Amino acid sequence: MAAHLQAVAQAVPNVKLLINGQLVDSKTTEWKDVVNPATQQVLARVPFATPEELEAAVSSAAVAYRTWKNTPVGARMRVMLKLQELIRRDIKKLAECLTHEQGKTLADAEGDVFRGLEVVEHACSVGSIQMGEHLEQVANGVDVYAIRQPIGVCVGITPFNFPAMIPLWMFPMAIVCGNTFVLKPSEQDPMTPMLLAALAVEAGVPPGVLNVVHGGKTAVDTLCTHADVRAVSFVGSTHVGNHVYKLASTHGKRAQCMMGAKNHAVVLPDASKDQSLNALVGAGFGAAGQRCMAISVGVLVGKANDWIPDIVAKGKSLKVTCGTEAGADLGPLISKAAHARVLSLIEAGVKEGAKLELDGRGIRVPGYPDGNFVGPTVFSGVKTSMTIYKEEIFGPVLCLVSVDTLDEAIAFINANPFGNGTGIFTQSGAAARKFQYEVDVGQVGINVPIPVPVPYFSFTGSRGSKLGDLGPYGKQVMQFYTQAKTITARWFDDAATAGPVHTTISLK
Ligand code: NAD
Repeated sequence: MAAHLQAVAQAVPNVKLLINGQLVDSKTTEWKDVVNPATQQVLARVPFATPEELEAAVSSAAVAYRTWKNTPVGARMRVMLKLQELIRRDIKKLAECLTHEQGKTLADAEGDVFRGLEVVEHACSVGSIQMGEHLEQVANGVDVYAIRQPIGVCVGITPFNFPAMIPLWMFPMAIVCGNTFVLKPSEQDPMTPMLLAALAVEAGVPPGVLNVVHGGKTAVDTLCTHADVRAVSFVGSTHVGNHVYKLASTHGKRAQCMMGAKNHAVVLPDASKDQSLNALVGAGFGAAGQRCMAISVGVLVGKANDWIPDIVAKGKSLKVTCGTEAGADLGPLISKAAHARVLSLIEAGVKEGAKLELDGRGIRVPGYPDGNFVGPTVFSGVKTSMTIYKEEIFGPVLCLVSVDTLDEAIAFINANPFGNGTGIFTQSGAAARKFQYEVDVGQVGINVPIPVPVPYFSFTGSRGSKLGDLGPYGKQVMQFYTQAKTITARWFDDAATAGPVHTTISLK
């Protein structure tokens, strides 16, 4: 390598692994650049951990589990209390790192951290969430109680689009329940998760209780099949989620996989027009459409179809630029590959006969000629047979379909295989109630465009968007990260007589 290139390579920091409480330099020969998607500046290099490093991470988690599971629940909660304080202290720094490596706007990056922080806050009260059940006198002198115990080493595999929130969906609740954890964040933006891991160490998470490794398929497959791993949480694409679910469950692990989506929002003609269209456009184009809960299909009912020009005008008004610029509404797509893919899907939409109402291709962003930008794009007349309807685009592309009635809108949504989120915009309580009751989607917003539940509930995407019964955070994840044990106990009264031998199963 030429001397000047070597100097540049050396100036770029290497992302570390966190193993047994130590930040470790990987010995791998396989590295990937972490790139600012607005500028193409190489921010860091991320290692693809070696088999020995993956083994070291799992075995340090297995060793740490022996003592961490015995740490009193109050002590575990106090670590989370400290962690939430540290995340709050560093929220601006976290958001800045996130914007640089992921591309979303600074305000949205802060939201990404904040929605994760809320899960940490909830973890601070795990004592009341993890309580068991007790029923006395189920038979003479017999009581039954159920407790929830941690399960061991848990693994988290996370996507690029929420590098703070989604790791925080996972490791705080796993750890506070008494488990130890190995996190494998997205190799596209691993720096924010590493900042969070450093805060966890600063907060007092003991060595081995949280480990972070980097890599791609090899790392994921190794973790999903490792004999010491008990549970795998995955958030990412449908294709990879299916693979992870099958692999982990075939190897005897619990698995929960939150996957791709195609989220529809119904707009009824009685909706509060400006509020609803603002919400539709914000949820369609915010984060450049790279949210699993983005609205990607607007279902316009009856006269609401007259509002297409307003939707286009609102889309056009959004400012597309680097996420650190003042007034930015949406930033770039994560990579050149994602950019090319979204452009090709728009092309397919045009070819297959959808009406391109607003074309975000070829957008020029002053000061950022190399960014992976696509502007807000709107198609109308979209049909279910079209590629832009069938595929999750994961870009700032809003597909509009027209129907005549609410019944038709509900049937249309229920025919789609995904079930992550949906919404309805209306001023009619009766219409909203009918929608909430009949729509077969796990998370429903009523005049709320992105109905991601707060952490006292759980994330409840359904059907094609999820594998496994239990979702992230809230009570469901406590169940996922713990094993129920039921105890049936009889204490003999010293004075009681034994009576005859019982040979039946019934409790007397
Ligand atoms: P992805 O599936 O490409 O990557 C997710 C994780 O899997 C990463 O850590 C990656 O390193 C790993 N991975 C990638 N290819 C793999 C392979 N062949 N084998 C094993 N592991 C592999 O997803 P992404 O592009 O990072 O994220 C976007 C996707 O995530 C979208 O489909 C989005 O809808 C989905 N998502 C879903 C939710 C949800 O809650 N349902 C939330 C966020 C994102």
